[in-house]
Amino acid sequence: MSNYYDQIEIEDMTYDPVTQLFTYPCPCGDKFQVFIDDLKDGEDVAVCPSCSLMIQVIFDEEDLDEYYEK
Ligand SMILES: [Zn+2]
Repeated sequence: MSNYYDQIEIEDMTYDPVTQLFTYPCPCGDKFQVFIDDLKDGEDVAVCPSCSLMIQVIFDEEDLDEYYEK
């Protein structure tokens, strides 16, 4: 039942502390993106706004703390 394009480890994504977004390059040229607060709330899907492909983000909740500190 997986409709995900891929599964990506959180440390392979790029975190921008200004926008609080994790991003990862999408094959369409845009980027998958998900807010850190959504991950904190249990969301684990990053969506590309241009082509609506999705990736599943692999992480532990405790991983997020080091990003919040940035
Ligand atoms: Zn895309």
